[in-house]
Amino acid sequence: MKKNISLFLLTSILLVSCNTNSVPVTNSGKLKVVATTTIVADVVSQVGGDLVDVQTLLPIGTDPHSFDPTPQDIAKVADADIVFANGAGLEAFIQHLLSSADAEGKIVEVSEGIVLLAPPEAEGKEQAQNAGDPHTWTDPNNVMLWVQNIESALSSADPSNAEVYASNAAAYDAQLKELDVWIREQIDQIPAENRKIVTDHRLLGYYVEEYGLEQVGAIVPGYSSLSEPSAQELAEIEDAIRALDVKAIFVGNTVNPSLGERIAEDTGTQLISFYTGSLSASDGDAATYLDYLRYNTTVFVNALK
Ligand SMILES: [Zn+2]
Repeated sequence: MKKNISLFLLTSILLVSCNTNSVPVTNSGKLKVVATTTIVADVVSQVGGDLVDVQTLLPIGTDPHSFDPTPQDIAKVADADIVFANGAGLEAFIQHLLSSADAEGKIVEVSEGIVLLAPPEAEGKEQAQNAGDPHTWTDPNNVMLWVQNIESALSSADPSNAEVYASNAAAYDAQLKELDVWIREQIDQIPAENRKIVTDHRLLGYYVEEYGLEQVGAIVPGYSSLSEPSAQELAEIEDAIRALDVKAIFVGNTVNPSLGERIAEDTGTQLISFYTGSLSASDGDAATYLDYLRYNTTVFVNALK
């Protein structure tokens, strides 16, 4: 009998502690949320509004493929109620970070449910098994799914404010739909024969598919900025740029542009900088996700039309 009572007590304590975890209470009354990239953080802030306190792990201008968390980042994650990540394999550091912070149960991958683009066959050899394109945010239609995932996670953690999250999500969704229409109108200004692009790594797959551009190739083949092209791959991309008369090479402003500069010089093509895995500072060209896509789209149109 004594043993049963102890078990009962133990179960009660466990239930109480689980309950405490699922109904987070902070000093400010706000949900404490960590987001990995500045882009994820902005979209979470749009849905969470004043009800969430969002901390961003990756500093502005950081390449998400090569980020290495600090002990302070582990502490932020340990302290958070929810950790929002892009998912889809973008954050190579995430499993180690979550286990270091004992926070495996806090993760919400905003790209959950998006059908990922598969690696092109020729480039598949260096990809991990089943790895798809992680750059889901380049198509605002995917970010509409992010918004649903974020709304659902915030509402589960803070059900008393579910209506506010739903209303914020609906308002932001309408802005994403407007942006989608605007991008289509902009891309329409590019003559069909000029809609061919080369990027530093293969990061615009969802965008080019949605808006009818053609990705001729990438300087670094594959979905990560980290690998290096062989001499043969460099020769092939230069041949393709010349053969298809590609008007511009687009290099993300978080990676070293030297290879892109060399290819641009060899082929007489213009080299254009744009935003890839990070927003700009708050006074920059791409302070929000909506501004980021507007800015990049304008850059593409001006270079190709
Ligand atoms: Zn990337």
